[in-house]
Amino acid sequence: MSLINLPLKKNQQFDVKYYFDGIQNKDLTILSKAITLLESIKAEHQLIAEELIELCLPFSGNSLRIGTTGVPGVGKSTFIEAFGKFLIETEHKKIAVLAIDPSSTKSKGSILGDKTRMNFLSTSPNAFVRPSPSAGTLGGVAKATRESIILCEAFGFDTIIIETVGVGQSETEVNSMVDFFLLLMLAGAGDELQGIKRGIMEMADAIVINKTDIENANRVKLAQQHYINALHLFPANENGWIPKVESCSAINTSGIPAVWKIITQYKEQTYNNGCFDKKRKQQAKYWLSETINSSVLAMFYNNPTIKLLLQKIEKDVVDGKTSPFKAAKILLDHYKK
Ligand code: GDP
Repeated sequence: MSLINLPLKKNQQFDVKYYFDGIQNKDLTILSKAITLLESIKAEHQLIAEELIELCLPFSGNSLRIGTTGVPGVGKSTFIEAFGKFLIETEHKKIAVLAIDPSSTKSKGSILGDKTRMNFLSTSPNAFVRPSPSAGTLGGVAKATRESIILCEAFGFDTIIIETVGVGQSETEVNSMVDFFLLLMLAGAGDELQGIKRGIMEMADAIVINKTDIENANRVKLAQQHYINALHLFPANENGWIPKVESCSAINTSGIPAVWKIITQYKEQTYNNGCFDKKRKQQAKYWLSETINSSVLAMFYNNPTIKLLLQKIEKDVVDGKTSPFKAAKILLDHYKK
């Protein structure tokens, strides 16, 4: 049975105990349903989801959270499949793969949607693959992913991989929920051609050049040196970690153990200097403020009086009758009342 995209049946409502027991009993179908619940925008689903997260929270936090990004076609899915398989078979890990895809909020397409690219992980009892929800705002998708991490950890997954398309804003969101951030690149094209923004490179804890099986070895070496130089130009990381550059072939799996070695080194180093925990605490603070910000905004914009007034005031602003600043003040004053 497919474990992804399991919709809640119409009118089917379970209580929080059903989901919590399912997660504790390691029932993948119930985990999948619980994530569907997190993604739901219905108020009654949100209420159960909130309660479920509170229940799962004490059992969460024990995984290594890895973000992977790179432009479409660089080989993210193939890499995650090979990397996950290696971790399961060699390191006896339990892997959950979650995806954030900003484009899916518009196009309804979704990364990881094509499960054939992750044959092993989609059928392994030690893995769970969940595509990006195909509706909602980026903020909403990111929130659901962040909450899914908690459920997956409570379930017992010890390695969480978050996949995102390396072209936009979603990387900041991913970076705010992972311990380690990995950027996949190709040797052939320049960074600009690969559509990778400086800011994304700056976030990377490792750059991995993929597809070495079809690339000239000298070009791979040159590219590696290029990225080492590029990373040196960024300010030093607060946690003392110097981002590494590695190469691999996701298809023939060469270089995959070396990538894992880098991640374990990172974990060891940041554990020892306290930065691992510090980053998680900063991320928790970030999510607190993010959640407050989005909730306050939603309350404001969903207020019936504001909705009506906004329509009128917007027109006045567009027509040049009122300044945007004055208009905002009027609206906020109304809201405060
Ligand atoms: P994504 O869009 O970044 O998830 O990329 P995919 O994993 O779907 O890979 C895009 C294409 O590149 C597919 O045809 C893969 O088979 C191919 N590919 C991925 N990794 C490698 C690799 O290491 N070597 C070669 N030769 N092809 C690869």
